[in-house]
Amino acid sequence: MTRHVVVVGAGVTGLLTALRCARAGLRVTVLDSGPVPNPASTSHDEHRALRALEPGDVAATRASAVLHRQWLELESLLGTRFYRRVGVVTGWPADAVDGALDVAREAGVPVSVVEPEKYPHLRFPAGSVGLVEADAGVLLADRVLDAAARWLREQPRVVLRPGCPVREVDADTASAVTADGTTVRGDVLLVATGPWSPELVDVPTVLHRQTTVYLRPPDDLVPWWEGAPSAGRIGDDGRAWLLPPGGGTQLKISSASLCREVAAVGDDAEEWSDRLALSSVLDDHERYTVTGTRTCHYAVDAQTGGGSLVRTGPSTWARAASGGDGFRTAPAVAGRIAEEVGT
Ligand SMILES: Cc1cc2nc3c(=O)[nH]c(=O)nc-3n(C[C@H](O)[C@H](O)[C@H](O)COP(=O)(O)OP(=O)(O)OC[C@H]3O[C@@H](n4cnc5c(N)ncnc54)[C@H](O)[C@@H]3O)c2cc1C
Repeated sequence: MTRHVVVVGAGVTGLLTALRCARAGLRVTVLDSGPVPNPASTSHDEHRALRALEPGDVAATRASAVLHRQWLELESLLGTRFYRRVGVVTGWPADAVDGALDVAREAGVPVSVVEPEKYPHLRFPAGSVGLVEADAGVLLADRVLDAAARWLREQPRVVLRPGCPVREVDADTASAVTADGTTVRGDVLLVATGPWSPELVDVPTVLHRQTTVYLRPPDDLVPWWEGAPSAGRIGDDGRAWLLPPGGGTQLKISSASLCREVAAVGDDAEEWSDRLALSSVLDDHERYTVTGTRTCHYAVDAQTGGGSLVRTGPSTWARAASGGDGFRTAPAVAGRIAEEVGT
């Protein structure tokens, strides 16, 4: 009999896992408390960065380069353009550059050095050097989710169940119990409920809340920004990052200084976006118009500070923590679960 995979949560992790398993000929059921895709999920945003270089770690850089190729394959499978290869520039102290270049060379990832003056509208920490990863860029996140959900809807062996909150998971039997008391049992169960994971699985995680600010550049700078890279380790303190506008998306800026640990998913009483010192990130910042802000959450593994995929029962897995790189690494989770089902 065809094996059945149950996925709880239809963010990027759940949808890509469902897609990978469906392509392998498995029966798949996806349960989400909201619509599919859900605009309230962490994954649903205009953009997410896709990059490979992990300075100091050749193996991780190689693994990220593999993920990069998987994203390009997915783009062609789904027939939707969702990757903008605009590059990413990051600011580094001069004495860290040689080590980073060695890692890039060994892992086969093209990286070059630029003077920050090449990007006159961005501010880098004093004395830093820019490293440009040419193949990196931006995933248009909500397009990824829409395309994956559309593809899944067309598969006869896939059932998408929006508006179906799961209230309990039985890790011993790979079963999910929905709010109306129905039990959905799989040969393999994946809990991919992002920052809501602690409600269903007991794995130590730390929840982070992050605020991002969207901006419209002044008219005369629109052409420059259309060709601008994504950027990280920028701003006077080197803690800010930005995703450039283009492909129908807005300029988005945030900073690690706006990321805070919280006890639960929710809103702040205080307006955190006011703390983003645009003056330290953008030249002529007063010429930009703030068009919106967004607050979202991600959970990290309490021990490693990163994402985690843990086995919580004989055939039950949980993406208990998705981490700040949880979007670009979703294909790795999908591959791991497909492997578990024996494809
Ligand atoms: C500000 C910010 C910037 C980021 N930037 C990047 C980046 O540049 N690159 C990158 O790779 N990553 C980035 N990340 C991380 C990345 O966005 C997340 O790790 C990833 O989107 C998590 O996806 P997910 O599918 O695991 O969870 P989610 O997208 O949160 O999806 C979880 C789903 O589970 C559903 N759900 C919840 N509870 C239940 C329940 N009880 N029953 C049924 N369904 C339920 C929800 O409705 C939701 O649809 C960023 C995160 C933030 C917050």
